Amino acid sequence: MRVCPSALRACAVTAQALRSRQKPRLLPGVTEPVSEKRPQAVFLIDEGKDVLSDITTDAVIIGAGPCGLFQVFELGLLGISAHIIDSLSIPGGQCAELYPEKPIYDIPAIPVCGAQELVDRLMKQIEPFKPTFHLGEEVVEFARREDGRFKVGTSAGTVFNAGTVVIAAGVGSFQPRRIGIEGADVFEGTGIHYRVKNSSHFHGKRLVIFGGGDSALDWVLELAPKAHSVTLVHRRPEFRAAPASVAKMRDLVSAGQMKHFEGLPHALITEGDVLQGVHIKLKDGESHALDADHVLVFFGLSPKLGPIAQWGLELEKKALKVDTEKFQTSLPGVFAIGDINTYPGKKKLILSGFHEAALAAFAIQHHLFPQKKQFLQYTTTSPIMHQRLGVPD
Ligand code: FAD
Repeated sequence: MRVCPSALRACAVTAQALRSRQKPRLLPGVTEPVSEKRPQAVFLIDEGKDVLSDITTDAVIIGAGPCGLFQVFELGLLGISAHIIDSLSIPGGQCAELYPEKPIYDIPAIPVCGAQELVDRLMKQIEPFKPTFHLGEEVVEFARREDGRFKVGTSAGTVFNAGTVVIAAGVGSFQPRRIGIEGADVFEGTGIHYRVKNSSHFHGKRLVIFGGGDSALDWVLELAPKAHSVTLVHRRPEFRAAPASVAKMRDLVSAGQMKHFEGLPHALITEGDVLQGVHIKLKDGESHALDADHVLVFFGLSPKLGPIAQWGLELEKKALKVDTEKFQTSLPGVFAIGDINTYPGKKKLILSGFHEAALAAFAIQHHLFPQKKQFLQYTTTSPIMHQRLGVPD
């Protein structure tokens, strides 16, 4: 691996620590609030921004959902280390983002497992292989190099020179749902924000925050003491956010330290090219003007196949066609596992993705080292696998 050393720093982060949003703070390269809980597993997080040269690696995995995480494990058993990229700021894909609290009943040998628990277990399982995570970065560029290797580039400017690529992108990269009012795109990143890159940017400012989930409430609580004013607007009385956060928000409203309205965004208030506020439509249909220097929108995320569809790989109904021996796409050296792929009989289940990851790992090993003889070894009895796993013989 060839990396500018200053671009990498050891960061102790677990899925749990990354996911918890009780006390927002920013990690380098991570744009969503994460907690300061004591981490249990150590991984390298690449800040990505000031990489001077390409990162050369055997394998890049696009997508840190359950299948991408298990791909790290299967590659690790074969002695292949991987870089793993996700546009989300947390690992776990749909499990972590869409249904972390829900139980899963069809993971072999685990009668019941919370979706976030599954992600935490996978993170623990891949710990010996020390993958490098690049979170909060969308893969936007992909090309086959003349030497048969691959160029993979992210939205943060990180560039990889990869021997193989595994696309484990699920239903696509999760993108923030937009506010959906006229002219909003013009102010995106200046007056209207879907992510918080630097919270100090909002200190002393008049803020209107839309949303009723954890992200909206976490930022309300974080910014209320530091902003000039905070107004929360949510479309209905019930919140999806943690009840404790909602209770704290209501306390702040009662103490006159912030405002809360039930309503929907209606129109922007602008003066020239400066955002001055936003009109909201209240429940009774009345329009109400709110002054704002910045509008923060947390309407959740929706998946988008996005750039992957443009990479020239054979598609069928928005999924990547693969064979069932190697789970290789139409481009040799590029593999696809999990929800993103399709083949006769495909079932979009986590256990299918785990099987696909195991077979893809052998195919990847063969692609990288065609002369190497392949043996099927059991983790129970293989000394080399014990060494890689860091367990005694
Ligand atoms: P995902 O989990 O979708 O992860 C893909 C990751 O790739 C995402 O994090 C995404 O941000 C990232 N990504 C995509 N494109 C890019 C890009 N260009 N750059 C960077 N990152 C990118 N399955 C079961 O087996 N059992 C169940 O009980 C079950 N229950 C479910 C309940 C619900 C409510 C839902 C929604 C799904 C359920 N599933 C269940 C399905 C299961 O969650 C999926 O099959 C599984 O998440 C697929 O894993 P994956 O790793 O392929 O993709």
